[in-house]
Amino acid sequence: MVNYDKIIFELSAPGRKGYSLPSDNYHTDGFKDIPSDLLRKQEADLPEVNELDVVRHYTNLSNKNFGVDTGFYPLGSCTMKYNPKINEELCSLPEFTSLHPLQDENSVQGALELYWNLQKMLSEIAGLEEFTLNPYAGAHGELTGLLVMKKYHESRGDFKRTKVIVPDSAHGTNPASAMVAGFEVVEVKSKPNGSIDVEDLKPLLDDTVAGIMMTNPNTLGMFETEIVEIAKLVHDAGGLLYYDGANLNPLLGKVRPGDMGFDIMHINLHKTFSTPHGGGGPGSGPVGVASHLTKHLPNPRVVKDENDKFHILSDNKDTLGNISSFMGNFGVMMRAYAYILSLGKENIKNVGPLSTLNANYIKESLKDDFLLPIEGVCKHEFVFDGLKDKSTGVTTLNVAKRLLDYGFHAPTIYFPLLFHESMMIEPTETESKDTLDRFIEVMHKIAEEAREMPEVVKDAPVNTIVRKLDETTAAKNPILKYKDLTEV
Ligand SMILES: *Cc1c(COP(=O)(O)O)cnc(C)c1O
Repeated sequence: MVNYDKIIFELSAPGRKGYSLPSDNYHTDGFKDIPSDLLRKQEADLPEVNELDVVRHYTNLSNKNFGVDTGFYPLGSCTMKYNPKINEELCSLPEFTSLHPLQDENSVQGALELYWNLQKMLSEIAGLEEFTLNPYAGAHGELTGLLVMKKYHESRGDFKRTKVIVPDSAHGTNPASAMVAGFEVVEVKSKPNGSIDVEDLKPLLDDTVAGIMMTNPNTLGMFETEIVEIAKLVHDAGGLLYYDGANLNPLLGKVRPGDMGFDIMHINLHKTFSTPHGGGGPGSGPVGVASHLTKHLPNPRVVKDENDKFHILSDNKDTLGNISSFMGNFGVMMRAYAYILSLGKENIKNVGPLSTLNANYIKESLKDDFLLPIEGVCKHEFVFDGLKDKSTGVTTLNVAKRLLDYGFHAPTIYFPLLFHESMMIEPTETESKDTLDRFIEVMHKIAEEAREMPEVVKDAPVNTIVRKLDETTAAKNPILKYKDLTEV
């Protein structure tokens, strides 16, 4: 039997082919225009395989992967929700995929219209004046937004503002982006209920603070009820408020960051607005700003003139500069555009309540077996601090691995850092009650196993393609090149 676990080079047999091409066109005449010094001197060392073997090889490889299309993926802070297939179809249309970023603007009016419309939709959703779609990811959006913040202070001749305040519960990219943008990071503490401690914030606010980075609901899934006071304190101190809008589903069409007092934000189109992501997949992190900051947005920009014609402009003298070689990830924008239009103004309001309902349903159903450090209604996600009964030594990592045996992706674990055994669960709005019930049943079962036969949980996973990995070595010394293991 052919072993498709073999790497494609190992399936190779001399002389086997997966194609037949007319020899004339491609072997003799076809090459006549290529300068001889550019022609290959010897045959490329490619695997020799037939088409069926190639199809089976890649299909089997894809089956070893876990994705949203394979099973439930409750990865907190990542919004791994269903991505409607019609969006994939739309962004694969050749009219769009064959566009070139250097094409004359007259020949890409439709694409620019989509870009401009999406800017406007995001502005309305966010309650901010204007958006740029140029950044390629959430973290890239954070950097762009922080550079807007810097440019704003510097344009007023205020060079003292070197600090950015970041809550201890923040996503790791927040302090990292602030550092990359050249700021010093100052941490503000969270209260036991997970929200920012306003009393801890007050003494930090002086004329060296450029701004604060927050997300609301915060990383623990709790709504910051003191946001209006926080906004006033930061603004009174001369700082700006940055909103990390990577996961915007809980407040879509309900609450707007601009109305809460935020000046700058980014949105992850690839989490909130439908694009399969994870594993470094395609991203887009548009940045929106309030009216006093629009002149600092990056070049190029898309604008509409009085004759409804669209233009790509780079004439903005107060801009922070260019942050991408062209204008961002168009395919991701197309999916977001299709997603927003297909939901419409009315239905987009259901996203938040559904994601909130799903998260609270799981939380309340499991809190007898898992330790819930923060009580109360959460928004789209929440955090358990491991099993309630830790006496048998079963950890969050063990539970996460055991979930894989039952066909579920693990939640986000050991983040946020506020708790020792964090398990951050985000079901998203697209899961049915049946799926949630099955997940709840399995989580109860694992808790029971942890009590009665803990070794089974500690040994997990047993049903997966690979068993428990040495993740540190895998991250630090990955083997990325083909290696014939039979020869080692
Ligand atoms: C995912 C995420 C980011 C970073 O987004 P990338 O596209 O991965 O760079 C930032 N903040 C939060 C809260 C996130 O969930």
